[in-house]
Amino acid sequence: MSDLKNKRVISAAITGSWPTKADNPNLSVTPEEIAEDVYESWKAGAAIAHIHVRNEDQTPSSDFEKYKKTIELIRAKKDCDICLNITSSGSVDFTDEERIYPLQQLLPELASYDAGTMNWQHKSVFFNTPAFLEKLGYALQESNIKPEIEIFDGGMIYNALHYIKKGVLLEPCHFQIVLGAPGGMTCTIENLVFLRNLLPENCTWSSCGIGKGHMPIMLATIAMGGHIRVGMEDNVMYHKGVLAESNAQFVARAKRLLEEAGYEAATPEEARQIYGLTRKVK
Ligand code: ZN
Repeated sequence: MSDLKNKRVISAAITGSWPTKADNPNLSVTPEEIAEDVYESWKAGAAIAHIHVRNEDQTPSSDFEKYKKTIELIRAKKDCDICLNITSSGSVDFTDEERIYPLQQLLPELASYDAGTMNWQHKSVFFNTPAFLEKLGYALQESNIKPEIEIFDGGMIYNALHYIKKGVLLEPCHFQIVLGAPGGMTCTIENLVFLRNLLPENCTWSSCGIGKGHMPIMLATIAMGGHIRVGMEDNVMYHKGVLAESNAQFVARAKRLLEEAGYEAATPEEARQIYGLTRKVK
């Protein structure tokens, strides 16, 4: 086994629920585009791809066939062993079953687990009810999928600690701190330090800042020993006023920054060891 202490995991959040091609024409929305984008991100140094799918009109989709096609296309890419992380959210309109079914069928290594309900983008309510969080937690245990516990504010960490105590979430856990979502905590270093300090000692964690907070949160996360997430789900601009060319461009920058700081980007196999993930489908 290689020395993992110096390795940091780069996760690429490819599409998300909100941006469209009107925001950035380089955004991937079809299964073919998403699969190619994941492949290019993997070549650039990403160890994990976080996947959402879209309908023809670019709205978030809960269509299982779209998930299936996207994941099959990624898994068919030559030599690509990237870890897959499928969203369990997608849209506030989906039923609990629509949110869980693709995970059980497609068996990614990771699935997002949004540890609480919040007002989302000041437009709608992002429901993650106690009943849903229990159902999702046990479903992920049954399928041996690791929850990526997404944290948008401090209360969500306390929810996660409750579910750890209850056995709905199994330790060691993996957390994804997301700052800058309208309705959640903003992108400040103080917020990142505050949230990180609430996490259980034996966990792994990653973070990302949405929009212009992307860069400062990434730099602080590197300094604090966390893993990082980049990608157009969080940010469609490479610099102020400059649209990102691709997710791979974000991944390549993250890899360069890690290397300048004396770290290395983990390979997918190393990421599986660091996060304790099981590859169930070749
Ligand atoms: Zn997502």
